[in-house]
Amino acid sequence: MKPFQDILLQTDFSHGDLVTLISAEGDERQLLFQQAQKVKLENIGNKVYFRGLVEFSNVCAKDCLYCGIRKSNENVIRYEATDDEILEACRFAWENRFGSVVLQSGELSSPAFVNRIDALLRKIKQLSNNELGITLSCGEQSLDTYRRWFESGAHRYLLRIESSNPELYRKIHPNNDFHRFDIRLQALDDLRKAGYQVGTGVMIGLPFQTIEDLANDLLFLKQLDVDMVGMGPYIEHEDTPLYEFRHHLKTKQERFDLALKMIASLRLLMPDINIAAATALQAIDPAGREKALTIGANIIMPNLTPTKYRKEYQLYEDKPCLDEDAELCRNCLEARIEISGCEISYGEWGDSKHFRKNKA
Ligand code: SF4
Repeated sequence: MKPFQDILLQTDFSHGDLVTLISAEGDERQLLFQQAQKVKLENIGNKVYFRGLVEFSNVCAKDCLYCGIRKSNENVIRYEATDDEILEACRFAWENRFGSVVLQSGELSSPAFVNRIDALLRKIKQLSNNELGITLSCGEQSLDTYRRWFESGAHRYLLRIESSNPELYRKIHPNNDFHRFDIRLQALDDLRKAGYQVGTGVMIGLPFQTIEDLANDLLFLKQLDVDMVGMGPYIEHEDTPLYEFRHHLKTKQERFDLALKMIASLRLLMPDINIAAATALQAIDPAGREKALTIGANIIMPNLTPTKYRKEYQLYEDKPCLDEDAELCRNCLEARIEISGCEISYGEWGDSKHFRKNKA
């Protein structure tokens, strides 16, 4: 068996190497975190970029079995922020020099929805003098729609695969044509064709998921050559069908720890991509996002969703910062990031270095 320290110094990793890394405990776990931090500093530096997150609607046509805002959950009050509210949140991001925003919603594909996003993109570009970068996270759409939104100003897109194991994917989604693994893959491919910086991610600690699955997830991200990743611990939601299998779950602390090891291993595997410190980390550990920043992540997403809507955008339980307004959220984050020893970069898009390198 290869010594752990030798694996850490590699630049290429087999499935077995990755299993070893994400299974690390004690001193080896610490060495993994130290090496991931070193690789991050050497490749992308110490800067943290803000993406102001606007969860503008929880209306969704899909029924993913793990998601608190799935179509069949009748305990959720559905909302749609108005255009003015969305633009106001974006203006806040611009005036506070966040550099970028993320527009996120449930998945719809009606012409009205597509047109609305298109118009919003143009207005956000206009109000910010073309300065705000825009990431979209609005689910599976046609290649034409992706192209149209790209032309209107979006340049990054986040579409999480959730699990790269087709069998596990099937277990956590309804078994119908509306929730197909191959369509998800096609959508990721289409995003690349349309010119976006492509982001995806997985849930860590799902019922039925093995360490081998997680190592394969990391290889999947590498093979897809993604530009950015947002991944965090799976947190169960009472109003979902997957809740029934909660007795299969690791403890939340174990899932949190596994998520940190996945982030650190991913940083070794893909040294120059953008990796988000997911909010789900904070739902388990109040300092969860800052911990992720010190072991490989470089992106943070302050929540700019109007406070009155936040309680209704709970994809999982115990989501943090439900009552904080944007100003409070920003102040709190700035203090936290300072403690983690990273430097906030204001007014920059913070594009994935990996993407820029691939394009050059
Ligand atoms: S995960 Fe996304 S697509 Fe699935 S039900 Fe939730 S909001 Fe809709």
